Amino acid sequence: MHQVIEGQLTLDHMACHVPHRFDVPENTGTLRLDFSFSPRHPGVGNIAHQLSISVYGPDGARGTRHNNADQSPVISRSWASPGYLPGEIEAGEWVVEIDAHRILPPGNVTYRIEIACAAEDCEEPAVDSIPNPLRAPKRKGAGWYTGDLHGHTFHSDGKFSPADYLETAHQRGYDFVALTDHNTVSAVPHVRRLAGNGITVIDGVELTTFHGHALVLGLEGWIDWRVKDGTTMSEIARAVLDRGGLYVIAHPKSEGHPFCTGCRWAFSDMLPGPARHVEVWNRSWTERNHNEDAVQMFYHWLNAGYRMVATSGTDTHRSAPADHRLAANRVLADDNTPEAILNALRRGNSYVTSGPDLMLRAVAVDGSTAEMGDVVAPGPVRLTCGCQGGKAGADLTNLSLRLIRQGKEVQRWHVRLEQGLQTTVNAVAEPGNWFALELRDRTEGLHGLSNPVLVGEEGEPWH
Ligand SMILES: [Zn+2]
Ligand SMILES: [Zn+2]
Repeated sequence: MHQVIEGQLTLDHMACHVPHRFDVPENTGTLRLDFSFSPRHPGVGNIAHQLSISVYGPDGARGTRHNNADQSPVISRSWASPGYLPGEIEAGEWVVEIDAHRILPPGNVTYRIEIACAAEDCEEPAVDSIPNPLRAPKRKGAGWYTGDLHGHTFHSDGKFSPADYLETAHQRGYDFVALTDHNTVSAVPHVRRLAGNGITVIDGVELTTFHGHALVLGLEGWIDWRVKDGTTMSEIARAVLDRGGLYVIAHPKSEGHPFCTGCRWAFSDMLPGPARHVEVWNRSWTERNHNEDAVQMFYHWLNAGYRMVATSGTDTHRSAPADHRLAANRVLADDNTPEAILNALRRGNSYVTSGPDLMLRAVAVDGSTAEMGDVVAPGPVRLTCGCQGGKAGADLTNLSLRLIRQGKEVQRWHVRLEQGLQTTVNAVAEPGNWFALELRDRTEGLHGLSNPVLVGEEGEPWH
């Protein structure tokens, strides 16, 4: 059975989902779709139209391959193209949706979708080999763990296979890694299988909407990312949090349309709305100065009483040049399991760093202790501030550790990381105050940022 859908998109379709229904007969084993459009490019500038398809069966979403040149998926009972989910090909009405991320003037894009249904199943091609079968088993038990919360494979617009992705995480020395392909979770089982007991894999997806990106971590399965028909991003975020997932606003100050359409956070109901996690360090610090704006937004939300947690993400799509200053999340967790890592991130017992260790701890007069992310009682507090170590090869001269209170620097120490630094500061803290540490170089470039110690009582004034 062969079906053809044709149509035209105008500028008015930008940031819209354009659905088309099609029929799948009984006893179908394989579905082949082929989406093409013309022109690919508006004819001026170096930025093309950006259109992908998503496929939905009667029983739910079957995948997408966002921002990938290949828009000709095969979906069968036992195998599917990258980005798509294999499984029963249910008879009935299916939907193929064009996700019109970017249509540039003058618009007028014609498209064609061919759909072929065949009875036979599709053979599974050879699977990825395990990148390093001799990898040691991962560390376990309570302690500090380092890892990444953001990255992509060729199941969306990355260059990496699941095996390449894991190998890169391994080379970077990560204890845990999340995989967050755009609007699809099809690669997660592959990554988990390849990881074995060598590295903790956290379920993830990047909700890649037309008006901002968010990471959902720790939930199995696909999340409907479409903000439409009266659904708001806040509702999606609340549903994720209610199900026990972590919701992270990704690269909020990234450049937007047309360079990176949809990348800049533009949900006015979510500043921060129900979100309590924000990615302040996306990709390389040197490459992308929008990260500084994200740090300042994080501070602004803390000053407004939101109990925010800062995270980082390498947003890996391919090999990164050696001079890129990426950050990892260092997390104080009860164990090296997805649940324990996510619990620590939920509390904010973590910091972002290009390599050096940071230490921030507050002790109140009654002897109670607060780690970064925790709440300490108002009154006199003794803050222990420290840092040490760093990435080999990086220029770590002329670094300074800075104590931040309410977003403002209140003290600064020059640091020689090989020797390390540990010092104490006495302060009288009032409810609503917060303290954090920054590690910066002489050009103000960031090398580490702690999550804050918050002053107040649990729930007050922090929300
Ligand atoms: Zn993104
Ligand atoms: Zn991303």
